[in-house]
Amino acid sequence: MSESWVELRSDTFTLPCAAMRASMAAAAVGDDVFNEDPTVHELEALAAQMTGKAAGLFVPSGCMANLIAQMVYVRRGDEVLVGHESHIVLYEVGAGAAIAGVQYQVVPGDGRITSEQVESRIKAGTFHTPGTGLVWVENSHNQAGGRLTGMREMEAIGAVCRKHRVSFHLDGARAFNAAVALGVPLKELAAAVDSLSFCLSKGLGAPVGSVLCGSEAFRTAALRFRKMLGGGMRQAGIIAAAGVYALRHNVDRLAEDHAHARILADRLAAFPGIELDPAAIETNIVIARLPGRDAREWEHRAGERGVRLLALDKERVRFVTHLGVDRKGIERALSVLEGVNRDVS
Ligand SMILES: *Cc1c(COP(=O)(O)O)cnc(C)c1O
Repeated sequence: MSESWVELRSDTFTLPCAAMRASMAAAAVGDDVFNEDPTVHELEALAAQMTGKAAGLFVPSGCMANLIAQMVYVRRGDEVLVGHESHIVLYEVGAGAAIAGVQYQVVPGDGRITSEQVESRIKAGTFHTPGTGLVWVENSHNQAGGRLTGMREMEAIGAVCRKHRVSFHLDGARAFNAAVALGVPLKELAAAVDSLSFCLSKGLGAPVGSVLCGSEAFRTAALRFRKMLGGGMRQAGIIAAAGVYALRHNVDRLAEDHAHARILADRLAAFPGIELDPAAIETNIVIARLPGRDAREWEHRAGERGVRLLALDKERVRFVTHLGVDRKGIERALSVLEGVNRDVS
């Protein structure tokens, strides 16, 4: 993170620290397409252990993890049942449709879904109609403002899926944020689903990669699709080492990012003309509404004064806290934003 910026656009802007880089330089490597990279094995075993699943598969990105999961579970033409404005629907260039051949049944709401909604929408395929091939939860949910689906709801959705024999997958790009905020180890959250992915390259601070975790059979099927999509990597231990470092050092500290998001939200909510419910801030994402004003102008003015935020649309701005922003950075952002809020009416 450059000293001159307070970077709040996304937790994807986190940079590897010196110790993480040292672990990358020192990593033992081999050809992972031949299944011979010891550091990739170490990362996959650690991810499996932390999620309580039988196996992990290192993949280049969260988007590829999501696409692979859909390819593994869903017959072409069948449906993925998914919450409003989920990442697979909004931000993956239609890969589910273009490549996996799925269609989405989008559940209305803020992005989170309930077991009742799943129960009423899940359906068996017939000669005429697509069936539900997969139930999909994003937790925490990005567009909902980092909101959480709690343990009880995850378990209830899992029970509905088992009853109907439909697979249940967690897009856990920020699953560690969710687990830390819910106060449970990730393996408890993951116990409700058949499989999940999490991003190493967001709040965990690694430069590249995600891990898909599930049963051995899931991994075997996923491995074939990873190769098909061009995601087989050779001496990938160089980047897997950063993931191992991230899992060992950067999970518990996510609580700090959540505390920073809360401070930001509490104070922003008191600014005139801003709509924001601080009680809805559960993790590291803060979305504020600026009714009647131009979010892009806000983004621009804040940027000129060294605070980077993201205009999501005409009236909404997003702030994401992460290990590259400390308490001082939050204070600096708030004083700049106070001025921006005064100037851009
Ligand atoms: C970032 C993100 C992804 C995709 O991750 P990439 O590594 O950027 O491909 C998937 N799902 C959610 C919810 C995300 O926030």
